[in-house]
This record gives sequence, C-alpha cells and structure tokens, in this order.
Amino acid sequence: MTLIIQNGLIVDGSGKPGFYGDIVIDGDKIVDVISTASHGRDAFPTRPRTTDPQQTTIDATGCIVSPGFIDAHAHSDAYLILEPDAPSKISQGITTEINGQCGGSVAPRYGEARLSGDWSTLLGSRLTWRSLAEYRAVLEAAKPAINTIQFIGHNTLRSSVVGYDGRAATSDELKEMQRLLAESLDAGGWGLTTGLIYQPGKYSTPEEVVALAKVAAERGGFYATHMRSEGDRILEAIDEVIDLVRATGIRAEVSHLKTSGKRNWHKIDAVLEKIENAIGEGLLLGSDRYPFCAAGTDLDIVLPDWAQEGAAPAEMARLADPAARAKIVAEINASDRDWSTVMIGGTWHESTKPLSGKTVAECLLPQRTQSPQRNWGSAPDPKTLCDPLRSLWQKNNTPAISPGELVCRILELDGCKTGAFFFGMSEENLDKILSRPWIVPGSDASLRAPWGPLGADHPHPRAYGTMPEFYRRVRALGISREEAIARMTSVPARRFGIAHRGVIEKGAFADLAIWKEDEFASKATYVEPHQFSSGVKAVVVNGAVSYADGKFSADRTGRFLERSC
Ligand SMILES: [Zn+2]
Repeated sequence: MTLIIQNGLIVDGSGKPGFYGDIVIDGDKIVDVISTASHGRDAFPTRPRTTDPQQTTIDATGCIVSPGFIDAHAHSDAYLILEPDAPSKISQGITTEINGQCGGSVAPRYGEARLSGDWSTLLGSRLTWRSLAEYRAVLEAAKPAINTIQFIGHNTLRSSVVGYDGRAATSDELKEMQRLLAESLDAGGWGLTTGLIYQPGKYSTPEEVVALAKVAAERGGFYATHMRSEGDRILEAIDEVIDLVRATGIRAEVSHLKTSGKRNWHKIDAVLEKIENAIGEGLLLGSDRYPFCAAGTDLDIVLPDWAQEGAAPAEMARLADPAARAKIVAEINASDRDWSTVMIGGTWHESTKPLSGKTVAECLLPQRTQSPQRNWGSAPDPKTLCDPLRSLWQKNNTPAISPGELVCRILELDGCKTGAFFFGMSEENLDKILSRPWIVPGSDASLRAPWGPLGADHPHPRAYGTMPEFYRRVRALGISREEAIARMTSVPARRFGIAHRGVIEKGAFADLAIWKEDEFASKATYVEPHQFSSGVKAVVVNGAVSYADGKFSADRTGRFLERSC
C-alpha cells in the first residue's frame, strides 16, 4: 500500500535547509522524496505520484514534515504493555523511545529484583517475564504504537544477583551480573544504563561499573548513566564517566545533564568544559536533557541515606519503628532543604491524592498558596486536606507538623511510592545546556495517558511536552529550525546507531512527524500534567499512520528495534 505525504515543508533531519515537496512511502519504507521547488514551483502541486489504487494521501500543506522524534531517555518499558497506544508520546511526534534508563529496566528480573513500585502494581498479573527475550514476546503481543530500544539496567542486574544489600559485589556476583548482561544484550538489549544515586546501584564501586560496561563495549553496545552525583559531587561524577569511557572505549551518554541545587549552579561551565574536552579528545560521549527546570523522581530520596537502604519494604519497616522514625524526622528537619521547592507528584493513597501538585511548604501551611518559586504555573486553590493529614497540621491550631513528619506520613500512606518534583535547577543553566549541539531531547518519562490506569498518576509535564518544549527553547536560543530538528532526530539516531531512522531519504524507514510549527506547544503543567501537546497533525510509524488529528490508530506498528552494529 502506498502512502503519500503531500505539500509539506520537508525538514529531513540532516540539518540541511528544508524544502517543499512530497514523500512517497511503500510498505514500511520511504521510496521517494520529491522536491516540488525543483519543478519550478514553491509549493502546493497536486498530481498523482503512483498508480496504486489503494494510495492514501495526507495533505501536509502548512506543516513541517520531519523524521519522527527520538526520545533518547525514556522509562516506558512497562507502560508500553499497559497502554500500547503510547498517547503522551506519539501525540508529541515521538516514534522511537530509548528505554531501560537510570539503571532500571523491565528485564532481566531474577532473585530479589523488583520493578519500581508503580510498574509492578499496575502490571499485576501481566508481569510474567523474567528474561529480556520473554519481555520482548509480551511486548510484541501488545503491539505498541511506537518503536522501542531496550537498555539493561545495572540496578536490575544487581538486585537480581546481589539483592539490595549495601555492599560491594563479590567477584562471583560480578561474573554472574556480566553473564546476565551478556545474555540480555544477545537477546536484543542495546547496552547498559546506571542509576548510581539509586538503590542498589549506589553501593557499586566504579570498578564494578567498568567491568559491566566492558561486556557492553565488547558487543558494540552503549552506556548511559544517571551519574553518582548531579550536584555536590558532579565534577567527580563526570570524571568517573570519562574514566569509564577511556577504559572501555564504549559509546556513552550522560543522562539528563543538570546541576542540581543552587549551591552547584556555578559548576555548569566546568561541567560543560569537561564533557567538551572529552569529546574533543575523541571519546564518544554525548548527553540528553528534558527542557524543564524541575527534576521528577521519588519522594523517598529526601530520607537520610541510611534510611533508604533496602528500598521500599525496608523503608516502610523503619517508618513503623518509633525510634528509627524519630531519627529520620530529626535528620530531615535538620537539613537545609527549601520545602517550597519540593512538590508532591504521583500519590497512591486516597488520603494523599489531594496533595499532588502542592509543595511540601504548601501542605504544611495551606493558607499560604503562593511561594516565590512558583512562577511556572498558577497556584492551585488550597483544598481541604484529607483526615489523616489534617489532624496532624491542625494540632494546636498551628502548623504543628514538621516537614520531616509530613514527608514520613505521606510516604507511609503511599507505601514509599510517592513521586515528587524538585525545583532545584537554574533556567540560565538549562539554556546553556540546551545551546550545545551535542544535547538531544530525552523526556526522562514513561508514557502516560489521561485515562485508564496511567491517568490516575500525577506525572511530570515532560511526559507530555518534552519535544515541543525542547523545540521552543532551542529556537529561542537562536538555533535554526533545521538544527533543532536534527537534534530531535538524526543526532540521537547516529549517536545510538539507529540505522535508517532519524532521516527522511529514499530507503529510510518511514517514521515521520507532520506538525504545524506555530501551534507546536506543550500544554502540560505541574499542577495539571495530563494535557496533550498541540500542533501535531499526524505521525507515521514504519509506514503506517499511527496518530492523526487527535486519534490513535488501532493499527499499531511500532517495533522492538534490533541493534544493527
Ligand atoms: Zn535518571
């Protein structure tokens, strides 16, 4: 069957100037790209391109036609099975996601390995796999709408073999992790990711990570890292990545590059310089970033280090133990954290639901709804807090509850699965990062939908709006349309060796986004995150129209992509 995309402004992803023309697609490939300008007209011709009676035409007049966007850093492994339409992603023009990031992948899953709380809760009885090959079979049966590239998480390997103990791996355990990684790479994994601030990866030595990265390097795979520090020890953390790349020769990505915490903002120039020197030295290093200034992760990272050991079940046991809890509360309260910069995100208990979208400071003092940091959206009306929490702050008719006690109470009610947004980044630094040609967009989000099981969550707006917001911010820095689009398409495709994607040319896979530049915008906010981006008219995945005019096609044509190099 033939599909024609007609009369669009074709920006082919290469960085070359756009031109008006038509794209002819047969099966899953682009078979012709015809510039109408070269025929002596600027635009808007209408003529048949094939003799196929089943030919379908999309009129792209007034639209940019670009390669489908590549989300270089995603967490949709589990949700592609639950919501294979991938609504929040495809509606912003994404056709390929790179999943399994930050050390957490959906497979392999042995021993004590647990998926993150939301994944295992929502998957329930559908969580049937252990190996990557078994996951792939389940994924392919679900027929996702977009392509997925699967990385293997270090934390997943480590919890499969070592469990959650806070100690170094023995040499036998390291060998077993290497074996599991090799098996997973041979079954279609693209490389290794780390999340070195998380359980249990934070207990690994740099040597352990290098030993695993070597296994990936030997197989032509990649390394992506959520570094050991993005704040106080960020420079040392970047040195660890560069040392690893030197030792292994692997192609590597620093995930979601940022300088966390105001006291570290000044390090940005040194951070960029270290990476650019390494690139200049010929090391294969790149980075990605989401175009927002709040980080989104789990609320339990505010617990003292010792209280996080063993992850959720052990944290819950400590919260239930009065002596341990008192120590936790005291240590949290003794920290100099600004609680107006910590917002509650996804919540799980009926009593904590009303807190989603409020800062901890607002929860403590509901009458004070506007904090100085809140220039990123309108403040929510204070809602009456649910009973278990109200009784805490209303004691003595004052904010009788401390931040530490509030956080512990929320975590306890949610089984330590609460999500949170941390407004600890600088806008100026974000622009400095986005100005670099080696920065590509990575949402750092799993796909979401405003309905169904995923609709009950309270995600970071990056889940819905990363691509338009990246485009807007990058263009506002004076970067050309063609370079901005290249960074959303061919740059990540080349970096990760995604063959015949990220470009519009004869013989490439037909992954395309058709969108109106002046309407392309992120609509999601921290307070109301379940809003689709605007401006995307249609998305083609492997030659089939998967999304058009706000509708998701039942014909889902995404693939589990194989590494070709
Ligand atoms: Zn991360």
